[in-house]
Parts: sequence; structure tokens; C-alpha cells
Amino acid sequence: MSRSWLSPCKEIASSLLELIYPSVCAGCGREMPGQDALICSDCLHQIPRIQPPLCPQCGAPLSAPPDPTGKRCRFCPPGPHFFQQSRSLYSYKDPRVKNLVHALKFRYQTGVAAPLSRLLSYGFDFYFSKMNIDALAPVPLHKSRLREREFNQAALLCGEISRRRRIPIREDLVYRRRRTPPQASLHPETRMKNLEDAFFPVEENAAAGLRVLIVDDVMTTGATINAVSKALRRAGAEAVFALTLALTIDLPARSSDSL
Ligand SMILES: [Zn+2]
Ligand SMILES: [Zn+2]
Repeated sequence: MSRSWLSPCKEIASSLLELIYPSVCAGCGREMPGQDALICSDCLHQIPRIQPPLCPQCGAPLSAPPDPTGKRCRFCPPGPHFFQQSRSLYSYKDPRVKNLVHALKFRYQTGVAAPLSRLLSYGFDFYFSKMNIDALAPVPLHKSRLREREFNQAALLCGEISRRRRIPIREDLVYRRRRTPPQASLHPETRMKNLEDAFFPVEENAAAGLRVLIVDDVMTTGATINAVSKALRRAGAEAVFALTLALTIDLPARSSDSL
């Protein structure tokens, strides 16, 4: 079949599809006729980011400057911290952020991963460019969940940081031994228990001497980040940091600001 014949057919088909299912932004639902993008420019550039002052450890926004004695904030995960610093870019309470995460994770719209990973890479530049990160570790899925979903959304979110900064994505450092219920569905006290013995080093010294950045879509209580950090430290990591797209806490209303 010649290309000259096929191309107009494809164009007609795509115009018809566009009429029936016009492109809509996966964040705000706005129609974007004639565009292939899955996220509109407002969602890409104008969703308010989490602003300082931040908890130096978990990255939650604080109403006053952090305690100089290094005391934890009320959002910090309980127990010893195995990570040095965690940062999140947006509030999960913003419906557009929630919609974008759901589009990737539950509606399998993997096309939103590239623009979201670009946003994360700007966050990396802002928070972690001087931390000498050697490896990106997406929070691992249990192999049965990975089989169902066919991709790890956290690994897709690492893409742009890895490409721009030439930092390898290491899915071979730690693994998830047990399939755990989603953290958000659990009572806070059972969250830590839920994660006990969930993550393990792939092999002894798998992360020996590495400065590792954990990447995930959403941080709920920090318990998952802390449990993965613990496994990475057990695997020999020198230091562990974390970066997530969203944090599930209520944020004070502030205007948007560029990273
Ligand atoms: Zn939008
Ligand atoms: Zn904190």
C-alpha cells in the first residue's frame, strides 16, 4: 500500500477520532483540539509547587522556619530515618496532580510520564544537583503488580533525570518481597507494620558506596521511602535521598513560583 494513499486515510481517521474523542488534558480535563500532548501548558507550568520553609528531612512545607535543633516535623515518618533528605514537588490535594498521577498509574496513559519526568528533573536540578547522586532507584513494585501493570511508573518518572544528568536508573538494588496494600488505605499506625520486611537488597553490597536518589510518584507518610532507604543502606548505600512528584498533605495556599 503506497504511503501517499495511506497518509490521507490516517489523517481522516485521526480527524474522526478527534471529533469523537477530542484530546483532553490528563490534568485539568480541558479540551486541546488538534494537539497530541496529554498535558496542557497550564498544568505543566502553573500548578503551585511546594514552597519553603520546608522540613529539612521530609520536605513537608512548614508554617514557620524549621527548628534549628533538627527536630522532626509532624509529617516526618516515625522511627529512625534512613534517608537524609526527601523532597516533593506538588501537593496531591491539587486535583490536577491527582488526575495526572491516576492517568499514569491507573489508566496506563504512559504518555504523561515524559512530561512529568521533565518536571521531576527540574526538581532534581533545584534540590539535588549538588548531592553527587550516583544512582536513581525507583520504588520497586512487587513482581505480581508489575506483571499486571506492565511498567513501574516510578521507573518511567526517572527517565528525564537519567537522560539529562547521565545518572543510571538502578532497578537491581532493592526489590519488594511482599505485595503490600496501598499505604493510603491504611491507618497510620499500621503503615509502618505494612512495610516491615517488604523491601530487601537484591544482593549483599548491591549499592556499596553509592549515593542513591529514590524516585516515586507520591509520598504518603514517608514510610515507604524510609523502608526503601533502609534496604538501600543495608545494601551498602553511602547516602539515600528521595524525590517524589507529590506529597499527600494539605498545603497552605500560596501563589505559584518557579523552581
Ligand atoms: Zn491541564
Ligand atoms: Zn518532616
